[in-house]
Amino acid sequence: MRAAMLAAPLGDDVFGDDPSVNALQAKIAELLGFEAALFVPTGTQSNFCAILAHCQRGDEYIVGQMAHCYRWEGGGAAVFGSVQPQPLDHQPDGSLALADIEAAIKPDDAHFARTRLLALENTLGGKLLPMDYMEQATRLAAQRGLARHLDGARLFNAAVAQAAQRGTGALDEARRIAQCFDSVSVCFSKGLGAPVGSALCGSRELIARAHRVRKMAGGGMRQAGMLAAAASHALAHHIDRLAEDHALARRLAEGLAGIDALKVEAPQTNLLFVDLMGEAQARSAELLAHLKQQGVLATGLYRLRFATHLDVDAAGVDRAIGAIRSFFAH
Ligand SMILES: *Cc1c(COP(=O)(O)O)cnc(C)c1O
Repeated sequence: MRAAMLAAPLGDDVFGDDPSVNALQAKIAELLGFEAALFVPTGTQSNFCAILAHCQRGDEYIVGQMAHCYRWEGGGAAVFGSVQPQPLDHQPDGSLALADIEAAIKPDDAHFARTRLLALENTLGGKLLPMDYMEQATRLAAQRGLARHLDGARLFNAAVAQAAQRGTGALDEARRIAQCFDSVSVCFSKGLGAPVGSALCGSRELIARAHRVRKMAGGGMRQAGMLAAAASHALAHHIDRLAEDHALARRLAEGLAGIDALKVEAPQTNLLFVDLMGEAQARSAELLAHLKQQGVLATGLYRLRFATHLDVDAAGVDRAIGAIRSFFAH
């Protein structure tokens, strides 16, 4: 990846003439079946550009309580865009119930914000949303005149997991999921392993609007081709290998089975959630410090999150299992 970054031809992307950025944008748009794409520094900015490209002041978007573009982005769409979120509780599988979506769509009445957009996320907290659900939810949104946005920061994790279930290819599944939506944001800097960058995909018209928002957000980058080259390298080399991350998350889950203090949730992709039970909760900070000292990073407090990724191998996972087991052995 670093060699690809060094070799990248550069221009000035603020003038749209960085060949490496243009190649990346064309590639991701084509992979996911859209007319156009926009390279942005972060997934947060990508969602922000999408929401503001779809919505005007006084509009609202329907979104899950735990969705990144509601809960974890500082309320940016509301703060800077005057677009209000309408959050809904998730079902246990991560979906938003169709009846809840339907009930949240406001009539055209001066009392209400104008419901404009349904924003879903896949994977959500490492959970793969079922394909038939994605189709039903986005069909409902379209029937009710809403635009549809996917926060696909981890779209390729979803695609790889879905491809394993269906015996198909990951790129086919990524496109199948993406095509339910009017816009899709993907992160190159998560499981795909690039240092920086996300892309927003959509129609030419939508991406032109998003481009203007990116400018307002200060997201125009000049000789950004070095970063785009890293993302292109990730697309070419790091998608199918996500299956290894998923297998290692399962290995970690299996390695932690049988520890009384822990409730381990079976992982569907690369994120493993482990609840500390009973008295173990009081030892949370101590556990995290112990793990950190052993070179194992986890986040959370009573509900720990472990992420497998391309810099973690089976030996690393086994080391993590050993560190956790030794902690609870005394
Ligand atoms: C990480 C993440 C983002 C935001 O990406 P940043 O590059 O950290 O801003 C958005 N959505 C989801 C689902 C994410 O996991």
